Parts: sequence; C-alpha cells; structure tokens
Amino acid sequence: MIGQTQKPIEEILEYLDGKDKVVLVGCGGCATVFHTGGESEVKEMAEVLSGHGKNVLAAIAPPFGEFTCYAPWSKARLGNYQQAIDECDAILMLSCGDGLQVVREFVIEGEFGLLKPIYPGTNPIGHMGGGPTLFKEKCQQCGECLLGKFAGICPLTQCAKGLLNGPCGGSQNGKCEVDPERDCAWALIIEHLQKLDMLWMLDEITLPKDWGQMNRPRKIEVAPLVPE
Ligand code: SF4
Ligand code: SF4
Repeated sequence: MIGQTQKPIEEILEYLDGKDKVVLVGCGGCATVFHTGGESEVKEMAEVLSGHGKNVLAAIAPPFGEFTCYAPWSKARLGNYQQAIDECDAILMLSCGDGLQVVREFVIEGEFGLLKPIYPGTNPIGHMGGGPTLFKEKCQQCGECLLGKFAGICPLTQCAKGLLNGPCGGSQNGKCEVDPERDCAWALIIEHLQKLDMLWMLDEITLPKDWGQMNRPRKIEVAPLVPE
C-alpha cells in the first residue's frame, strides 16, 4: 500500500487560492486505509472547503476497494461527473501521487480532453505493509528482489545504510548504530539464516546492485483483466 498523510489545510488552500469551483476526488484503496481520502475524509474536506468559501461542485468518493490508480475504474466513476469537472477551476485529489497522475493523464486529459489545474491533498511516503493500524516500510521496489538470499529480510530497506554485505562495524547487541531503538537488519538476517541452517548463503559476497532496474519511469504491460 502507499502510506500517506494528509497535507495541512493551509497548503491546500494556498493551491486553491483564486479557484472557487472545486472538484474533490478520493480513493477507495490506500487513501481509505490511511484515512486521507476515504468517503469520510472526502466529505470532511468538502465541508472544510465550503467553510472557506469554495463551491464544491462534486465530492467523489469511490467505495472501499475501488482504487483510483486503476484507470478503468477511475474512467467509469469520473465519467458520471464530467460536467462538474468541465466547469471546475481546480481538482483536489485525496489520493496518492499515482492516483492523481492516473486521473490527470488517463481521465481528465485522455478521456475528457481537458486540461485542468489538479492538486495533491496528501503527502505519500512510500510503500508500506502491515495494518490495521501500524504500517512499516518493507520494500523499495528495487526491481530485482534479493529476499531469497537474505531470509526474507530486505537489507536495502531495513538496514539504515542499505548494506548488501553486513553488518557494519557499528552493530551492537543486535541493535543498529544509527538508531539503537531499532533492530540491526543484518543481525536479524544472520539469526534467521542460522536458525534455518542456511548461513552458507552469505559465503559469497553480494555484488553491487544493478540500479539500472530502478531507471524511472518504469513500465509494465499486461493482458487486460477479464471479469469472471
Ligand atoms: S530486495 Fe528489497 S527493495 Fe528490492 S524488491 Fe526485494 S524487498 Fe523490495
Ligand atoms: S547497525 Fe546493522 S542495520 Fe544499522 S547500519 Fe549497521 S548493518 Fe545496517
């Protein structure tokens, strides 16, 4: 999931300065889980903006499970609000940056042929797993997963220095020198491999990572989903 927090209202109002007619779009995916753009946050934001004199033409809140970053769903949902989008001065997205850019590229520009000011209402902070209340960053989508070598613990994300051959000299009693409150990822990797009787996996030095796999923006083409 994309971890995210809501932007301060002052920043949102700055974006919307001079723009009276606003359309709000939330997301039934990550933004609902992180309470930044679910149905109640969209409703709340509509009330706040109305209180600041904005004319909210539409407050679009996809139901839980409907991801705004999935273009076919966004095209279908926003299609019902094309007139409001056509008339508005600005769109405020209560979704992650993926959702915002998918709506801008595939729906507003692609489907409707419109160019509209579109603004983020959240600060996305990366892929995170867990829940229902505590989420942790576990993976930075490096494009060439190494978890098979490291007992399912990602050194790139969990080690403060991203070391592929650790631990560093600062690891103390299983804790990280950068933050003694957190476990040393490399102490965990070694402990897990020892318990699995697979410590031999670290006999070979891991070569520097091919960061070419991180060349952005990345693209994947898949066959379309066929509804069952
Ligand atoms: S090695 Fe780490 S960052 Fe790369 S894909 Fe695997 S979990 Fe993600
Ligand atoms: S103490 Fe462990 S987690 Fe911290 S930087 Fe060194 S190897 Fe990485």
